Amino acid sequence: MKDNLGREINYLRISVTQRCNFRCAYCSVGYPDENELSPAEIAVFARAFARAGIKKIRLTGGEPLVRDDITEIAFAVKEAASPEIIAVTTNGYLLEKKAQDLKKAGVGAVNISVDTLDRECFRRMTGKDALEAVTAGLEKALETGFERVKINTVLIRGVNDDGAERLLCLAKKYPVDVRFIELMPTESGGENKLVTSAELLSRFPFLCPSYERDGAAVYYRADGFRGRVGFISPVSKKFCGSCNRIRLLSNGAVKPCLGQNDVYDLRKLLPDEERLYSEICSVIQKKPAGHHFEDPSGKLSSMNKIGG
Ligand code: SAM
Ligand code: SF4
Repeated sequence: MKDNLGREINYLRISVTQRCNFRCAYCSVGYPDENELSPAEIAVFARAFARAGIKKIRLTGGEPLVRDDITEIAFAVKEAASPEIIAVTTNGYLLEKKAQDLKKAGVGAVNISVDTLDRECFRRMTGKDALEAVTAGLEKALETGFERVKINTVLIRGVNDDGAERLLCLAKKYPVDVRFIELMPTESGGENKLVTSAELLSRFPFLCPSYERDGAAVYYRADGFRGRVGFISPVSKKFCGSCNRIRLLSNGAVKPCLGQNDVYDLRKLLPDEERLYSEICSVIQKKPAGHHFEDPSGKLSSMNKIGG
């Protein structure tokens, strides 16, 4: 369905939890709200969203794989909404254990967040000595045969930006796209630590534009690389004019824009799918024009709460 600005809204991101087994300083803050939707409740939402035109669904969080019922959620979403693709965004820590069950449940694509390949820096950034487990998760995902496996990286000036080239070379070693996402300012901080996509590109002159895009990512290629290198630039080149997303939060609130604080509590309508469908259509019409990161009062909630 189109929103009131003519944008086709067909991509739903479901944050299934605010909980996480990592503590990335730029992402998580405070204590999570554990008032999580059950797989059956998520399924009712997914069916109503599908009627409103949603074709792609991503499960995110917090860390979605900390939910013991994550495969049940994926399966329930597949049965209820039959989306063209179900994707998962994960920190990869539990992926080695859960990859096969996720694939069997209908997950077709996995994005793994890796911000550094230096073990000590990884421990400092996430609060866990887990680089080895995450690498094992990535290799397991590739072996499992998902349609797509991607790496997402956020660079923070003075923290991990000196490791950008090693990360980029994951696209040489493995058949994966590596995407650099600009750091967005949130209540967890982030000001003055942004490394823009333009700055990064100037560091790697061997990258050639491929003129391929996928959602918000613009892709480059390099000789001898098996995957592509992507840049997602929500801060330096905002893409709100072509945004196709809407979010369901772990507590049943619907959030039409990542960058604005408006949320609509639709959990109270469960299990009435007709009312849910009609309210979802009305929230889509209220989707704001875009974010205002340039305004200091335009800061986001922490990403673990809203599903980055
Ligand atoms: N735990 C999972 C993970 O780490 O992939 C899924 C949730 S996490 C919130 C999703 C993505 O949001 C991660 O790639 C993370 O790096 C990104 N993220 C978190 N805070 C961010 C921020 N302030 N700016 C840009 N991306 C951010
Ligand atoms: Fe957890 Fe992902 Fe946020 Fe890191 S980025 S704290 S792994 S939710």
